[in-house]
Amino acid sequence: MSLSSLFTLLFPHLVDLRIDDVYRAGLSVRIVASTRAEDAACPVCATRSQRVHSRYVRRLADTPVSGQEVLIHLGVRRFFCDVPACGRRIFAGQVPGLTVPHARRSRGLSDVLAGIGMALGGRAGARLAARVAAAVSRMTLLRQVRAEREPEVCVPRVLGVDDFALRKGHVYGTLLVDAQTRRPVELLPERSAQALKEWLIQHPGVEVVCRDRAGGYADGIAQGAPEAVQVADRFHLWQNLAAAVERAVARHRRDLPRTTPEPAPTTPPAESPGIRQGPLAERTRRRHRQVHNLLAQGRTITEIVGELDLARNTVRRFARAATAEELLAHDGTGKRPRRLERYDAYLRERFAHECTNAVVLWDELQQQGYGEAMRACATTSAPGAASQCLRPNPPSRPPSVRSPPGSSATPTTSNTSSNSSSKLYSELVPNWLVSASVFRASLA
Ligand SMILES: [Zn+2]
Repeated sequence: MSLSSLFTLLFPHLVDLRIDDVYRAGLSVRIVASTRAEDAACPVCATRSQRVHSRYVRRLADTPVSGQEVLIHLGVRRFFCDVPACGRRIFAGQVPGLTVPHARRSRGLSDVLAGIGMALGGRAGARLAARVAAAVSRMTLLRQVRAEREPEVCVPRVLGVDDFALRKGHVYGTLLVDAQTRRPVELLPERSAQALKEWLIQHPGVEVVCRDRAGGYADGIAQGAPEAVQVADRFHLWQNLAAAVERAVARHRRDLPRTTPEPAPTTPPAESPGIRQGPLAERTRRRHRQVHNLLAQGRTITEIVGELDLARNTVRRFARAATAEELLAHDGTGKRPRRLERYDAYLRERFAHECTNAVVLWDELQQQGYGEAMRACATTSAPGAASQCLRPNPPSRPPSVRSPPGSSATPTTSNTSSNSSSKLYSELVPNWLVSASVFRASLA
């Protein structure tokens, strides 16, 4: 392969130029070149002209070669446009595939920078561009992206329509998507039937429109593309289905069978009620005995501290207590008794009579002398029925459209066992469950 063939292969955009010199300057490679064409076309009237006005040198940054920056010193000519009706009198000749009017980068380098900016955005794109293409600022990359021509809008056969929030709760726009290629087609600045209608009139050919169940878009489609078939999209079908199932189950909640409360776990009786057992209690009794024996022998507190190797305050506390039982906790658990536990038997009885309303129970306890606040009553960690029946039910989350109605969308209440509710659920909505399985299969 000859050198000229290699040059043609590697630099196709320079083939039409006359290369006068190539030299290295620092870290960059400079190419001195000029155009060969004798004439050029006016950019306004497209009439070719040979009458030269002047010459000048453009400096163009080109795509790097082997990691080296390339700068082209391109000699170009200005021409007169002699067409009387044309508004342009003088214009500069361009090199197809290499130059763009007023640009200081070659078309190839501009395309590379636009691609990097499109993929990475400003800051990250600028960091990558400095390594692989050219050192440019993030704003230059963004300008390059904005200067790109928008692709031609191809009218899709199946159009997806949905709204999106520019500012949630305040400003909404409309997103149009090609439902077959899943590529966005257009963003409309507002969520209105009028905007959709105008777009459909300007872009005829849509056969199917997939949308949510709101009436606004339906009107816009009916006016803009009356022959198009309107279908509800899968996302909103799921959303509406979940809401309908929730309403149905809530409506029949009274028919759900109530469950009987589980018997409270029986705790094994203590060996001797009222007397605390365990190693800690035994050690307390032993020390109390030792301290009082030494006191009876006439020892002082200081001598007892040295003899038993205990803290002074500990010895004083043992000396003040007449019996070891005074030093021990009362319930044998080591925990302070909670005030609600005194009403445990009463609460169990009320719970057995199906009174589980925390407000009602708290009111009844107030009449019996319970002085704690409602919050303390409802969040107490007392064992037994007291905490079970007074703890408020956790708020149920609304069903997600991503979760099938047969699983997490099933509402759970404290009065309903999961088995009975799911059985009733299946009886209420057998057809919906079939639909759900079909949808789930289509989603997979
Ligand atoms: Zn002209």
